[in-house]
Amino acid sequence: MEKREQLYEGKAKKVFKTDDPELLIVSYKDDATAFNGLKKGTIAGKGVINNKMSNLLMQNLEEKGVPTHFVRELSDRDTLVKKVSIVPLEVIIRNISAGSFSKRYGVPEGIVFDAPTIEFSYKNDELGDPLLNAYHALALKLATPEEIELIKKYAFAVNDFLKAFWLSCGVTLVDFKLEFGKTSDGKIVLADEISPDTCRLWDVKTGEKLDKDRFRRDLGGVEEAYEEVMKRLLGNL
Ligand code: ADP
Ligand code: UDP
Repeated sequence: MEKREQLYEGKAKKVFKTDDPELLIVSYKDDATAFNGLKKGTIAGKGVINNKMSNLLMQNLEEKGVPTHFVRELSDRDTLVKKVSIVPLEVIIRNISAGSFSKRYGVPEGIVFDAPTIEFSYKNDELGDPLLNAYHALALKLATPEEIELIKKYAFAVNDFLKAFWLSCGVTLVDFKLEFGKTSDGKIVLADEISPDTCRLWDVKTGEKLDKDRFRRDLGGVEEAYEEVMKRLLGNL
């Protein structure tokens, strides 16, 4: 399968058409941004790691009954996926307080919740991805009530799998963001990526950050952190 016309260039990936109208190729870049594009940089080798990690995790999720856009890995950076129309919601699950949750509610990072939380942001860069609830999403016609229920069910199933999986790698899954899309036959599937760009991952023993917060917060050792989580994932599959 070959890349045809470029449909889109995002902050972390490019998206290409293929000869099949139902399929796209996503190409992972080393570019990194934070704070809605205000901070820009590169993380050498990130694209290769995020591509492989996302694909391995999605293949496992498929086996657990969560449908995904994944079709086939084409190369180090390129993957064939089902074309979906993205539901413009960023779905965030949290197991432990961090980032914008801690800021918004004035609590320290690292509080372990009794049960995971779910929240939605409206995927809209101009508006800065504002937080919204399911009623707002319905009012804005971003999804139907049935789609929102399914998205919530899948998101918690993803959390159950990922939390246990990362724990077996010596990594604590703090929080993460998912995107869902609708295939041409109307099926809701997990799309986009699952990687250290979109998850907070802390070393179980030391609490060391092994994710994009190293870039966001100028902590150094960014490439090494991505390599470390990838190594642990591969060692545990
Ligand atoms: P951003 O748009 O936030 O800069 P990326 O650089 O990751 O993000 O760009 C990838 C884009 O492709 C995102 O807008 C994402 O919603 C979209 N996308 C991911 N998976 C699919 C898919 N299977 N079909 C169509 N679009 C997708
Ligand atoms: N996240 C993401 N993309 C976004 C916003 C958040 O992948 O546009 C991820 C982020 O990596 C973290 C989780 O979602 O794992 C929760 O992020 P949070 O709301 O705390 O936002 P941030 O601290 O990034 O402002």
